[in-house]
Amino acid sequence: MENISRRKVLIIYTGGTIGMVANMNTGALENFGLNRFLEMVPELNRMDYDISLKAFDPPIDSSDMEPVRWRELAEMIIENYDLHDGFVVLHGTDTMAYTASALSFMLENIAKPVIITGSQLPIGALRTDGKENLLTSVEIAAACDLSGRPIVPEVCIYFDSRLMRGNRTTKINAEGFNAFRSFNYPSLAHAGIDIHYSTHLIRPYRPELPLCPHLDLDDRVMVLTLFPGIRRDFIEAALSAKELRAVVIKTFGAGNAPQKPWLVDAIRELSRCGVHVVNITQCSEGSVEMHRYETGLQLLNVGVEPGFDSTIESCVTKLMVILGATQDPAEIHALLNRSIAGEVTIPV
Ligand code: ASP
Repeated sequence: MENISRRKVLIIYTGGTIGMVANMNTGALENFGLNRFLEMVPELNRMDYDISLKAFDPPIDSSDMEPVRWRELAEMIIENYDLHDGFVVLHGTDTMAYTASALSFMLENIAKPVIITGSQLPIGALRTDGKENLLTSVEIAAACDLSGRPIVPEVCIYFDSRLMRGNRTTKINAEGFNAFRSFNYPSLAHAGIDIHYSTHLIRPYRPELPLCPHLDLDDRVMVLTLFPGIRRDFIEAALSAKELRAVVIKTFGAGNAPQKPWLVDAIRELSRCGVHVVNITQCSEGSVEMHRYETGLQLLNVGVEPGFDSTIESCVTKLMVILGATQDPAEIHALLNRSIAGEVTIPV
């Protein structure tokens, strides 16, 4: 039986609206430091956990997030992994879903909660959503069963009373408190008077599997969103980048693209040159099924991989992590067609 008397939670503050204040001159929101942030949340001292804090120095607006900062964040978690029972990451909402997805792939076999949260209103604002998001995230990060096993041993986003699998989330609202949705996978928990966990949806606790970090990300990935009337010269210019190793195509409906021979030829050429092309749908809900229509089948026939029901955030970061870990085309193909951290539903 593990010691469950005092749960240890590490809060990592990276920046974002939750820790911002309006600049007196410009009125624009800017980050402030960790000490000032803590003064605004005295409630943390009333929680019955050992809470430690770390921060990015300086904190960043999440629009400035990039793979090297994901590495920094993953390393902070790895260095503190054995010392804590759970982690809370405070993060800007703009790219939170990318960070949640990236961490879920970078921290393979994670067996402790990593709960990412932030807010739409700064923590110092009267009507802030930040306090509830933060305090409930700490509670979820510390939550365990009677044997001391964590209830949520995976990377999640907690926002507006909902706990979601991190690599299934997308930011859907630039204003409302319900900023995130997980369209293709149900919420893992709801917080009301009590927190109700849907344990059958949560990754099982597998402490026997060693944490396997993947810290080298390959950023030679591009996203191509199709639209009616998209021009050949623009696509050809974009796809001719010398360093390109992978393209995510955001297609129509169930994975369909215009039947233009030049488009299909351009994609065939990419595959021939070893560039991996993954197809995800522009729809928020549902999955790519390239064999359903002729307009999808033409892509399958030139080597395009299915992205299933992946979010764009998950697809991009999964590619970055896979390409950073291996050069072997067969291995890349196998990993793309597998759910690594619960990010896709593979049809049976
Ligand atoms: N621009 C902010 C950020 O993502 C927005 C937010 O935190 O909600 O850092």
